[in-house]
Amino acid sequence: MSPKNQKKTTDGPSRTSERTGSSAEPVRHTNILVIGGGLAGLAAAIRFRREGWNDFLVLERGDDVGGTWRDNTYPGAACDVPSHLYSYSFALNPDWSRSFSQQTEIQDYIARVARRYRVRDQHVFGCEVLSARWIEDAAKWEVETSKGMFTADILVGAFGALCEPSQPDIPGIGSFAGHLFHSARWDHKTDLTGKKVAVIGTGASGIQIVPAIAPKVAELEVYQRTAAWVLPRLDRPYSRIERLACKYVPFYQRFVRSAIYWAHEAQAVALTKNPVLMKPVGLFSRARLRRAVPDPALRRRLTPDYGVGCKRILLSNTYYPTFRQDHVRLVTEGISEVREKSIVTTDGAIHDIDAIVLATGFQVTDSPTYRRLFGKDGRSLGDVFDVVGRQCYKGTAIANFPNMFLLVGPNTGLGHNSMIFMIESQVNYLADAVATMKRRRIRSVEVRAAAQESFSQMLQNKLSRTIWNVGGCASWYLDKHGDNTTMWPGFSYEFRRITRTFDIDAYHVSTRGPE
Ligand code: NAP
Repeated sequence: MSPKNQKKTTDGPSRTSERTGSSAEPVRHTNILVIGGGLAGLAAAIRFRREGWNDFLVLERGDDVGGTWRDNTYPGAACDVPSHLYSYSFALNPDWSRSFSQQTEIQDYIARVARRYRVRDQHVFGCEVLSARWIEDAAKWEVETSKGMFTADILVGAFGALCEPSQPDIPGIGSFAGHLFHSARWDHKTDLTGKKVAVIGTGASGIQIVPAIAPKVAELEVYQRTAAWVLPRLDRPYSRIERLACKYVPFYQRFVRSAIYWAHEAQAVALTKNPVLMKPVGLFSRARLRRAVPDPALRRRLTPDYGVGCKRILLSNTYYPTFRQDHVRLVTEGISEVREKSIVTTDGAIHDIDAIVLATGFQVTDSPTYRRLFGKDGRSLGDVFDVVGRQCYKGTAIANFPNMFLLVGPNTGLGHNSMIFMIESQVNYLADAVATMKRRRIRSVEVRAAAQESFSQMLQNKLSRTIWNVGGCASWYLDKHGDNTTMWPGFSYEFRRITRTFDIDAYHVSTRGPE
């Protein structure tokens, strides 16, 4: 879709009115309110523009678009999905400089797309949503934010899964007097040069940070709770000729993108249908580890004890070799406490430390935003999930929450392909829902509890055979009930198929009646 092909506006601009009730605080009303200006919120905003629905706003607590990619500025931050696939289908970028993009290049791309499709001015930056309540009588969402009140007919939750840093509950961590920050809130004012640094966590973030900071620090301790499976990262710069071909040779870039997509899609067979097929991948990874780490004792500690793919498979050519440097140490004893200037491990050792980097991941299954969304019966989404788990229809709609659509909701995560594909699928569904509501003068839609339940049962049934459930690991894919409410158990094209059109029969519908 090109901006010049966008349809003409059919809706009026956002309106400001007096709030009903005792307060005279002005309220801004829009037809659609999107929470979050990351890749998902931006995709929705662009789609609304294309459909000619300009009566929408995106509330973004940060000061720019980009979400996860704006926030994760740690050294070495890069994507492990190939560049040509990790982009919107409607905004391919022929100028990617490498086969796997760095964070800065992705963030520049996202900002450029927001400008190109003229949706930046629909964002309210620095605007944090404090609560959102469904008002049944008015059939509206009432949204309280750090920048005042908003109301909307439709609420889109695009607040992401990897946005709220998970802070480890380690005794004494509050008393640490040195530098302490999370990977997703990197403190660029702190110079780690010559310091004794501890990195806690060896997930996708940790294994990128470790090789990136090792050359400058005096000592580096890597605190590993669970070893990760690591595979090579087939990263290389793109030549000028390749970039020119992407730009000028018809269909070349689409062809490259499709080839990457299908190569990744094939991995779903092993991850979700037949985990035994992951075994050769494990042998390959072990052989790599043998070559990279000569010390057998160290190698043993770096070898995972669960099935490959149970936790996210990590891609790196530099992580294992980093441990060959004398000043880099792997610590596998648990952390019993943090003191003013040290970390104490369960073997009683005291490790003097100047700075701690928490590469400890995100609050995925227990997002704090869930506690701020209140449905038809007054309960928060967090309360509902506490009781029934993160049940959700097609990763998008939840019973008791009318006119609310999630993007990157429960069970939309992938272990094998690009999240942008899933986002665009959900945006198709959302756009068809909004179009249906407008066309049929629908006041509200609410997914039927029975439809949600049978969808969730079907998912859990399929998930029970996946590597994430049978691989013998504890991961953030599982919620506190032990259910996998994070991953999509199949091919991503299957999700595309079930989100192609809005299946109104699965919803309770109330109409506005004739005009
Ligand atoms: P993560 O995968 O959740 O890893 C967190 C790490 O911290 C794990 O090693 C975990 O150990 C450890 N940890 C957590 N709490 C701890 C505690 N109290 N004590 C000791 N260790 C603790 O988080 P992440 O690395 O930020 O990655 C999150 C997701 O972001 C990835 O799965 C991926 O989807 C995305 N991501 C992608 C890229 C990329 O594309 N290259 C880069 C970064 C992030 P356990 O394993 O034992 O729980």
